[in-house]
Amino acid sequence: MGFLSVLSFAHKLAEGRLHPGGFAVDATAGTGADTLFLAKLAGPRGQVFAFDIQKEALELTQRRLSKESGERLANVSLYQDSHSNMKECIPVEYHGKISVIMFNLGYLPSEQADKHIITLTDSTLSALEASLELLAPGGVVTIVLYPGHEGGEQEAAAVEAWASALPQRTAQAIVYRGIQRPNAPYLIALERKKPL
Ligand code: SAM
Repeated sequence: MGFLSVLSFAHKLAEGRLHPGGFAVDATAGTGADTLFLAKLAGPRGQVFAFDIQKEALELTQRRLSKESGERLANVSLYQDSHSNMKECIPVEYHGKISVIMFNLGYLPSEQADKHIITLTDSTLSALEASLELLAPGGVVTIVLYPGHEGGEQEAAAVEAWASALPQRTAQAIVYRGIQRPNAPYLIALERKKPL
C-alpha cells in the first residue's frame, strides 16, 4: 500500500483541523490545488485567504475555483502579494482564528512558468513567524519543502532549523520524510499550542 505522499499527508493534517465554517490560508497558491482543497473543506460559510506573488498563479487559481460550484466553496480572497505580508493583508478579526495554513515552497508547477521564481528563505521565515500569530490554538501549518530544487536545499535547512528551535509551549513540530531519498520533497508541520 505504501505511505501517504507528502502532499496527501499535508491534506490529512488539514482535514482533521479545518471544519465547515472555518478559516484557512494557502500561502503559495500556485495552480490553486490547495486553495480549492481548503475552500471545499471550509465550505460556504468559511473563508480562505490565498497568496502568490505571480499574477499567472492567481489566474490559474481563479480558473480552477471557477470550474467548481461556488455553493460548495468557502469565500476565497486572492492576494497578489508575498506571504510575508499575510498578517497585514488578513483582516484583524481573523487573527488567532485560522485553523490551517499551507505552504508548498519552490516554483510554480506550470509549463509556461519561470522556474527561477521560487520561494526565498527570508520571506518564507517571515511568513512562518506571521503564521504562528494568525493560527488558532490547535491549528496547523503544513510546509512542503523541496531540497532537490536549486535554492531549495538551503531554504529547507533554514525552515527545519527554525522549526526545531520553536519552544514546545508555542508549537509542536514534526517532520514527515522518506529517509532513503534525501532529495525528495518532505513535510514539516506545526501545531499551535497557546497564543504567543
Ligand atoms: N500549492 C500550489 C499548487 O497546488 O499548485 C503549488 C505552489 S508552488 C510549488 C509555489 C508558489 O509559490 C509559486 O506559484 C510561486 O509563485 C509562489 N511564491 C514564491 N514566492 C512567494 C512569496 N513570497 N509569497 C507567496 N507566494 C510565493
